[in-house]
Amino acid sequence: MSDDDFRPAQMISERLIERIRSEGSLSVAAYMAEALFHPMAGFYATKDPLGAANDFITAPEISQMFGELLGLWAAECWMQMGAPSRFELIELGPGTGRMMSDMLRAGRAAPGFLDAVHVTLVEASPALKMVQGQTLANAQVPIHWAKAFEKAPSGPAVVIGNEFLDCLPIRQAIRHQGQWRERVVTLHPEDEDRFGFGLGPVLSEADVGYIAPALRQAEDGALVELRPGDQQQMEQLAGRFKRDPGYALFVDYGSSQPETGDTLQAIRAHQKVDPLDMPGTADLTAWVDFDRLLRLGLDAGLTAYGPMTQGAFLTELGIEQRAAVLAKSVDAAGQARLKRQMHRLVSPEDMGALFKLAAFSSHGLPPAPGIAPFTR
Ligand code: SAH
Repeated sequence: MSDDDFRPAQMISERLIERIRSEGSLSVAAYMAEALFHPMAGFYATKDPLGAANDFITAPEISQMFGELLGLWAAECWMQMGAPSRFELIELGPGTGRMMSDMLRAGRAAPGFLDAVHVTLVEASPALKMVQGQTLANAQVPIHWAKAFEKAPSGPAVVIGNEFLDCLPIRQAIRHQGQWRERVVTLHPEDEDRFGFGLGPVLSEADVGYIAPALRQAEDGALVELRPGDQQQMEQLAGRFKRDPGYALFVDYGSSQPETGDTLQAIRAHQKVDPLDMPGTADLTAWVDFDRLLRLGLDAGLTAYGPMTQGAFLTELGIEQRAAVLAKSVDAAGQARLKRQMHRLVSPEDMGALFKLAAFSSHGLPPAPGIAPFTR
């Protein structure tokens, strides 16, 4: 590791140690928020972690087909809203901007779409915002940035987030002697320069209410995850869609049924590492609970669709046909590459089954394209 990587990491560790000494143990959410989003030294603040050469690789970085198909999906939603002459295309956590660039290129296929679209990129990381600016420098449509979803302009909208929800800070709770207790990050008992997990306060009734009924009476030692970020996102989305029509699509890895288990993971340079080791130098994510997400959406007042696997959705949207079209203009090596890309995105052994989607819309619109309604 170079000196450049080390200094911010040390700064985050020192800040966290200081905070735990003065305030006591931290929730997993507070730890995650600091490690990922500290404005100067957090993981997303300091570098561009995306892409083959960096820490992890996401679907839009694997293949242009991913963004292209989502672009067609967005254009279809726009038509279903009556093709308004101006509408907002809002992307949450746009990474390098690749997906938006591919979406806009594909959007050319829908006459009038590019004349109507105004793009807002919701991005917390100044470093990634710069990368997005470069990727989209030649986009022929207006592009704006917002630090938060509520800051995006009003109006009919399509909202999209790929691997956005997985990096929202989560809380973890552990069943202990018949009660749910918050799992906390504290100083390691044998080495105060390191972190360890501990048992914190008993969860409030409201927090226990978040836990799926089927899991509430789990055996001692069971761990469940609470996703306050998903809840907030659903409430904000519902607020927006009560005022203005819209569709939203979230793609992420996760489960389609509530499950117990620790899904917090840290990835540094494509390797799984200890989430408590050198905070700020690794990406921290946790699985989305799609069943819970969809219920949160319904409770907030949205129409909900899904869950559906990424493999099934991309197949439904026509990834095979798209690959066949692209294959016509490349050589044999290019064709083999397209095949590998498609396989990675769609095959259940790769991303096809672990990655899932949920869609939402305001009431009174035609059903979201390509994805069946959620039934409780
Ligand atoms: N969608 C991209 C990037 C995924 S990584 C892709 O698929 O390649 C997660 C992205 O979400 C990063 O751009 C990160 O900076 C951003 N992000 C995470 N939490 C955020 C928040 N609370 N507000 C805004 N952006 C956030």
